[in-house]
Amino acid sequence: MVDRPILEFTPRDIALLRPANETERLAALRDLNILDTAPETQFDAICRTAQVLFDTPIALVSLLDEDRQWFKARCGLNDDGTSRDVAFCNHTILADEVLVVEDAGEDARFGMNPLVTGEPRIRFYAGAPLILRSGIRVGSLCIIDTKPRRFSTEQANQLRDLAEVVTANLRVYQDRSEHRRVAATLEDTDDALRDANTRYASLADALPQMVWTVSPEKRVTAYRNASFRTYYGETERSGGRTHSRNHPGDVERMSSAWEAAVSSKQAFELEGRLRRHDGDYRWHRIVMIPLQRSGEVIEWLGTALDIDHIIAAQNALKATGDLLRLAQEAAEAGIWEWDMRDDVVRLSPMSARMHNLPLPVGRDAMEIPLADWKAQVHPDDLPGVWDEVKRAIADRSTYSCEFRIANPAVPAEPRWMQSFGRMLDDETGEPARCVGLQIDITDRKVSEARIAHVASHDNLTDLPNRAVFHATLEKCLADIGNAPAALLCLDLDRFKTVNDTLGHHAGDGLLRVVADRLRESIGNDGVIARLGGDEFAIILPGTRLEDAQAFARTVIDAIGQPIHLGSQVVTIGASVGIAHAPEHGLEVDLLHRHADLALYRAKAAGRNSFQVYTKGMDEALEDRNKLEFDMHLAHRKGEFRLNYQPIVGLADGQIRGFEALMRWPHPTRGMVSPAEFIPIAEETGLVVPLGAWALEEACRFAASWPIQARIAVNVSAVQFQRPGLEAAVANALAVSGLAADRLELEITESLMIQDGDAVIACLHRLRSIGVRIALDDFGTGYSSLSYLRRFPFDKIKIDRSFVREIDDLDAQAIVRAVVSIGERLGTAITAEGVETEDQLALVTQTGCTEVQGFLFGKPMTPEQALAFMREQSPRKAA
Ligand code: C2E
Ligand code: CA
Ligand code: CA
Repeated sequence: MVDRPILEFTPRDIALLRPANETERLAALRDLNILDTAPETQFDAICRTAQVLFDTPIALVSLLDEDRQWFKARCGLNDDGTSRDVAFCNHTILADEVLVVEDAGEDARFGMNPLVTGEPRIRFYAGAPLILRSGIRVGSLCIIDTKPRRFSTEQANQLRDLAEVVTANLRVYQDRSEHRRVAATLEDTDDALRDANTRYASLADALPQMVWTVSPEKRVTAYRNASFRTYYGETERSGGRTHSRNHPGDVERMSSAWEAAVSSKQAFELEGRLRRHDGDYRWHRIVMIPLQRSGEVIEWLGTALDIDHIIAAQNALKATGDLLRLAQEAAEAGIWEWDMRDDVVRLSPMSARMHNLPLPVGRDAMEIPLADWKAQVHPDDLPGVWDEVKRAIADRSTYSCEFRIANPAVPAEPRWMQSFGRMLDDETGEPARCVGLQIDITDRKVSEARIAHVASHDNLTDLPNRAVFHATLEKCLADIGNAPAALLCLDLDRFKTVNDTLGHHAGDGLLRVVADRLRESIGNDGVIARLGGDEFAIILPGTRLEDAQAFARTVIDAIGQPIHLGSQVVTIGASVGIAHAPEHGLEVDLLHRHADLALYRAKAAGRNSFQVYTKGMDEALEDRNKLEFDMHLAHRKGEFRLNYQPIVGLADGQIRGFEALMRWPHPTRGMVSPAEFIPIAEETGLVVPLGAWALEEACRFAASWPIQARIAVNVSAVQFQRPGLEAAVANALAVSGLAADRLELEITESLMIQDGDAVIACLHRLRSIGVRIALDDFGTGYSSLSYLRRFPFDKIKIDRSFVREIDDLDAQAIVRAVVSIGERLGTAITAEGVETEDQLALVTQTGCTEVQGFLFGKPMTPEQALAFMREQSPRKAA
């Protein structure tokens, strides 16, 4: 048994398939005189269009002769025909519809076809019949693929439209052969004609062309055949000037051709539009032949063939080509073709433009050796491109890649190309050609790069952002091997102050300067990222801990240099925490947390310092977090207390007032010092409600005193930064009924270097309701006498540390200077932390007006303070 479906066709079955009108059909085909003619551009162009339009390796214009199919045009195939038995076209010419075979291997009609089972291994076929006239289908326009594929109705319609263009061109053949026949007949009968006018006339009348004669001297029409009369109308008078029927756009061309022909006595042929009797113009191929006798032109014989439908078809073809070109241009696509056999690359005009190659004038493509093409590709991209090409050749598939090509206009900015191609085999199955499209994707690449940069960089400082930091650290830790790495977390000291005082614009400028200084310090050795706000991180791969510490010092120094922001000069500091891999962790999050802990410690330790992570820091942080939690709880439960320390006037030894000092009796820790919990309360913002409570509590207590002494309350800078301080003061005074001038607010100079004008305005408002303002802790840190000019404080409190060193002459000199300014401004000067009689003697000598210290009284409970007041027996100044 033969192992194939019963319905499968054999070549013999196919041979039996012949259209009913086969004889007429063959006659029409032969009449065209087209079989075995040389290839012609218009047919080749249609084939190429079909190949590109439908993206198939093969496209053919096939004409079906008696026992063969012959290809008038072919793309992707070397044979110029096959035996008729195997032609798919046999089926195509049986109907007017497009024949589509999506998978020939699965089709009973073609499964055993040698073109399917053998070369070229057709799997897909779509063919549109070439219909010369009704029922006469001389062949097909077909496209072929070696892989099965789908074909939509719309594509079938496109193929049919393209076949129409082929048919229109075939009709040119039809007309041409008729024309030739007429001309031949007429020439042959040159002499006979003159004698056989009747025969001549009746022959001419039978022709589809217009035929006429023109006398040379007068150039008037002497004779017109039936077609002529039909075209121009019977009323057309003879003797009219020939070009009067010409289209105005053709007149010049036609008359110069005519003049040239007359002077050369040569026949001429041209195409032009002739006006029909109804006013319509139709394209004609006009031939004028001189009829000569003894070397003299006695008459011109004209024939004109109506070729309007051909011109229309040609225009349609041109439109299709234009459309294709337009589509390519709209997509900014260039077409290229690489012939592997001779290593030549053909470029379409757009492709040539992309490669900055001048297209030879009048050419619609150019060829360059493959080596020249390669030389244009960026050397870094060429290996990748070539690998992809080799892969595509090996897989017999498509290839796609992106690469840069030289840009002579701006050499530093090569242009980016994206190229798609398809490998095509020759008849032996060897890769022969690669055809494809190329588009310029430079703009896309540029914006992609911009987007990538924006997405990975902080737009203020242009430093890599947190995401990049994370990825970089991860990569660094992954391939750490034996090489160590350091992570530095950096935080600016007093950044917020600058930001709040000078405005965000200045703050931004400051961050940019810091970023620049960091970049300068690091050079090419690591990665700096801005994690947000005034937080930076620095990754130093391959760095020992000692070197990381040295680097931290360099960075702190660099940032500490004065920064010019417009007309202002500011100085800020930086704190740095260092964690070192591998010993402090090998995971990004852990190492980062440890560097952060170290940073936290550095900040706590004071400005402009760095700390290296140590194991104990985790516990310390935990402890601090617990304290913070307890503090919130204590605040809710009202567990905070105020103690009061007396301030004594040196002149008379009388109590001038008390300073309220906060106390926190912790259930398990015992008494927690405000030096420990106030900074945490400032950080968490708890200092705001806590401070408001202290104000109210202190005022209420003072209002109950038996003496008119003042109450001094410490106010944190954080309370000034948040709204509500003035309201809290007013509220404390109102609920206690305390006279405003008995309340003194102690502020530190850190507040003064902050919000400058805003703070000063606020202080003035507080002062205007009668509240007194004292400058606390004078002599620590940045004390500058210039504050005294900016705001006339009611009191200056000289810090304990100064008093401790008061036997030092420099310290004395400074205190004296402060005192003398205070005297001029009418400001009281209090010496803090006076513990000994010696200190008391010295501060008295320098001119301080008040003293506060353990020598006079420690901070005491309200009851103790009341008892102290009642005693009214403070020690008198010595
Ligand atoms: P301060 O404002 O400079 O307060 C004076 C500190 O010096 C108090 O410490 C006081 O006990 C201590 N002191 C007074 N005389 C002597 C002395 O002769 N020798 C020594 N060694 N120390 C003396 P305290 O009570 O521990 O307060 C520490 C800091 O906590 C205060 O420094 C102040 O800055 C802050 N503070 C206390 N209470 C409050 C408050 O209610 N609000 C705010 N914002 N801060 C407060
Ligand atoms: Ca104080
Ligand atoms: Ca103080």
